[in-house]
Amino acid sequence: MSPDSLSPYGALLGIDLDALCDNWRSLKARLGSGDCAAVVKADAYGLGSAQVAPALYRAGCRHFFVAHLNEGIVLRPLLPADATLYVLHGAHPGSEREFVRHDLVPVLNSLPQVQAWQALACQRDKVMPAILQVDTGMARLGLAADEFERIVNDRPALLGIDLKFVMSHLVSAEEPDKPVNREQLARFRAALARLPGVRASLANSSGIFLGKDFHFDLARPGAALYGVAPVAGQANPMRPVIRLQGRVLQTRRIEAGTAVGYGHTWTARRPTRLATVAVGYADGYGRRLSNRGQAFCDGTPLPLVGNVSMDTLIVDITDLPEGRLAEGGLVDLANPLHGVDAIAERAGTIGYEILTSLGRRYARQYLGAAEA
Ligand SMILES: *Cc1c(COP(=O)(O)O)cnc(C)c1O
Repeated sequence: MSPDSLSPYGALLGIDLDALCDNWRSLKARLGSGDCAAVVKADAYGLGSAQVAPALYRAGCRHFFVAHLNEGIVLRPLLPADATLYVLHGAHPGSEREFVRHDLVPVLNSLPQVQAWQALACQRDKVMPAILQVDTGMARLGLAADEFERIVNDRPALLGIDLKFVMSHLVSAEEPDKPVNREQLARFRAALARLPGVRASLANSSGIFLGKDFHFDLARPGAALYGVAPVAGQANPMRPVIRLQGRVLQTRRIEAGTAVGYGHTWTARRPTRLATVAVGYADGYGRRLSNRGQAFCDGTPLPLVGNVSMDTLIVDITDLPEGRLAEGGLVDLANPLHGVDAIAERAGTIGYEILTSLGRRYARQYLGAAEA
């Protein structure tokens, strides 16, 4: 976008596709012989699956995951035919034919999903691809141990289904010391032993960092691709992907003792200069960041003061040189030095939620990953 086309926007979201592709390559490099998929659900964690997925395809990625069938229908035409697009939620009753029509592969999570997929395979007299998910401790999606037993003991139950992978999902992979990681691994291995020869997929982003035992044939990273730290409490090896800048709408001077914003939750202790910035909770900059968030200008931290409003927030710019920030200028709300994890910590949430909340009002600038 040219500077002119940015002028109608109150804020800019820069998305570095080169950094994103580097992140995918570095995760793949950790996997040895295993393959690396990309999870692009929720519009690629808010960053735009229409741009993110084709860029990752050009980097070499051939396996993609979305959550909803509808996300798959929208994304499928943007990926070449040799890319496989899996739908994590599987086919809800009656939607099976949509998967065939749009060349999507369901993750089968329940016995009814397995039965319906098989029934369609019989009807069409064709072997149909699917992933089978087993629950190893999340209690969210996937066959329970006894349901899985029933299926493997009743081999015709899978007849007509081309099992691409058996998969499961980790509960606490970002905390390597938690015993539940090994417990889930043991349950997963036990399940795999019942279906010899089938390929397997267990690790999300953080799971890749749990070591070789967790890699299997296909890893499914999402968050780490987008720059979120994969291991709690450790330096982040991923490249930052986003930069979020808000436009200054107005600056003002206030006297010591002046209260600021909705509810007057902050009062100036000194003569203060303020900048009102065109980003608010409607843009995913949550109200929990009231009096806690931080903006930056030339590396100088600018504390957010008062409550975050729907469309604006207010920062204290007293520490900046006079005249440095004027109406129309930009302040950083997320940048490589203050990324989604830092914001999340201040907001009392996780980087995933910050990313997926970003909202629709930003001018989005995609950098790098030029068409090959
Ligand atoms: C969202 C999701 C992933 C990706 O997880 P990250 O922690 O973002 O890497 C992988 N597998 C399943 C089943 C998921 O739901």
